[in-house]
Amino acid sequence: MPIQNAPAIPQLRSIARDSHPISRKDISPNALRVLYRLKEGGHEAYLVGGAVRDLLAGIKPKDFDVATDATPEQVKALFRNCRLIGRRFRLAHVLFGREIIEVATFRSNSDDGSGDRQQHEDGMLLRDNIYGTIEEDAVRRDFTANALYYTIEDFSVRDYVGGFEDVQARVLRLIGDPELRYREDPVRMLRAVRLAAKLDFEIERGTAAPIPRLAGLLAEAAPARLFEECLKLFLSGHAVRSFEGLERLGLLAALFPESASALAANRSGALRRMVIAGLKNTDARVAAEEPVSPAFLFALLLWPAYCRALMALQAQDVQPVEAQRRAADRVTVHQLSTVALPRRFSLPMQEIWLLQTRFPLRQRKRVMRTLAHPRFRAAFDFLMLRQSASSEHAEDVAFWREAQQDPDLAIAAHPPQEDSAEARRPRRRRRRRTASS
Ligand code: ATP
Ligand code: MG
Repeated sequence: MPIQNAPAIPQLRSIARDSHPISRKDISPNALRVLYRLKEGGHEAYLVGGAVRDLLAGIKPKDFDVATDATPEQVKALFRNCRLIGRRFRLAHVLFGREIIEVATFRSNSDDGSGDRQQHEDGMLLRDNIYGTIEEDAVRRDFTANALYYTIEDFSVRDYVGGFEDVQARVLRLIGDPELRYREDPVRMLRAVRLAAKLDFEIERGTAAPIPRLAGLLAEAAPARLFEECLKLFLSGHAVRSFEGLERLGLLAALFPESASALAANRSGALRRMVIAGLKNTDARVAAEEPVSPAFLFALLLWPAYCRALMALQAQDVQPVEAQRRAADRVTVHQLSTVALPRRFSLPMQEIWLLQTRFPLRQRKRVMRTLAHPRFRAAFDFLMLRQSASSEHAEDVAFWREAQQDPDLAIAAHPPQEDSAEARRPRRRRRRRTASS
């Protein structure tokens, strides 16, 4: 199926050095080294993609990518510290200590009849490893803002798709026909939300319009890739804006179907308030360069689904402890079919949930066990979030805050409540286990 959306001959606009703000001192010296070495080797080479976009938008780039007309083998021949990676499309990584400069050969997505390009019947790209010209390289990129090329020839920015103006206007616009581009790669819908959140750009109308209708295509994307994309959406410092964008465009239901429907069914809005409060904390931690954990993030995002599953099981008279375990497993297993959460994150996520039910238990032995649990700190942070959305946990928060300082004092101040079913059940089970072991 030929690509119909790429403009036949993209028009080059060159923005001279005195008309744009990108200065060499803002560019990683290693990226500059790569650009100069490729040029000395007789090749064309440009800084491209996110770095040029970020520099124009006044943001410090996270990494620097280079595009060139040299083949990966030619790149490798020029650099000792270079390795070739990727099977779907070969890329050169030039290594400078911990910094990696990714060097990609111009590539084309257009069908040249070589049979080297495979496309699904529904338009999804399977393989796109054909080298091309810079013009072809520009139009196969996703957003106009991501298709700008900075050159050390004359320090100008080359624009084939109107990206420079779009960055000035703070607009995120897909190159070509949006529906076709989303069908080729549905993850572009998530990238639109993520980049708009990160850059504080508007998603251009025609780029946003088809998303609610096409959101379901994400079901065809690889769950492992969606997991990676979720980490970028929520752990890059713009989680609240990303979440709101996903919600607005109907993508939340595609990524987290059970949580989205539980949120919609929660009339008081307490669950949504809690999720937003948690994402706000996450953003604050990222801004303060404190660590953030995927397990905690997913505990938060899937909490509405967990609560709903738990209520359903309890309505069927399943015993509380059993219901909690089954709800946690069900939600985790169901979620895997869209976003593949690796076990090293899903296990601690479940522990964070299951610890919530230990918080009302205040007998000394239990308190000591809960405090010693490796996930206690995360679970307590989670409890505080629940409290921020509904005041019913105020007493537990107060108790566990004190218990971390002095458990005995805390127990004396807040004596155990022995009468709840949750409080009795785990103890009985434990006794049984001790008796038999
Ligand atoms: P950031 O690094 O800030 O997350 P980025 O735009 O650099 O954003 P990358 O995933 O590093 O994102 O991609 C680098 C470049 O590759 C993009 O700027 C874009 O030009 C191109 N690109 C990435 N993903 C796609 C895609 N799904 N479809 C088309 N082009 C893409
Ligand atoms: Mg990048």
